[in-house]
Amino acid sequence: MEITVVHGDITRQQVDAVVNAANNRMRGGSGVDGAIHRAGGPAVLADCVARFPHGLATGDAGWTTAGEMAARWVIHVVGPNRTAGQTDRGLLTSCYRRALEVADELGAGAVAFPLVSAGVYGWPKDDAIAAALEMFRAVDTDVAEARLVAFDGATYELMRAALSG
Ligand code: ADP
Repeated sequence: MEITVVHGDITRQQVDAVVNAANNRMRGGSGVDGAIHRAGGPAVLADCVARFPHGLATGDAGWTTAGEMAARWVIHVVGPNRTAGQTDRGLLTSCYRRALEVADELGAGAVAFPLVSAGVYGWPKDDAIAAALEMFRAVDTDVAEARLVAFDGATYELMRAALSG
């Protein structure tokens, strides 16, 4: 699998699936979650309600339509909320493993990932990047490209350094 890093908005990526940093309720939220629901339109929420009536567990992944985005699917993951005391790193690495498993079920060739838990959920960016890269290198998958998307320039530089280091 090729690992790439880009500076941009995940909702605008030309990939098969975009990953959402969702929450347990799976009914939309702030950050990436809000951007994905806005860009995908109401079909994303309707599919969340239909497919996840009881929400999604922390560390798990599940898919919905991507609605009006260029991608075909959204793969929702729920990262640990460190701000709320969830410090189990295994829950963070699980998000990436489960997302790649779901991508394989869907037959998604290119998948764009945000830096899960590194926003409102308060995970330190450098370790969030390390966790993503670790799992991209460890998981046996048919996904051809895992694209890590940085929303700001400073995070992009951290990702680039981590990828080449
Ligand atoms: P969490 O609740 O899991 O911490 P957030 O959405 O708050 O998720 O933030 C996760 C990361 O995604 C942060 O680094 C944030 O800067 C970034 N981010 C926010 N909006 C976007 C977007 N539209 N595209 C890509 N990354 C984004």
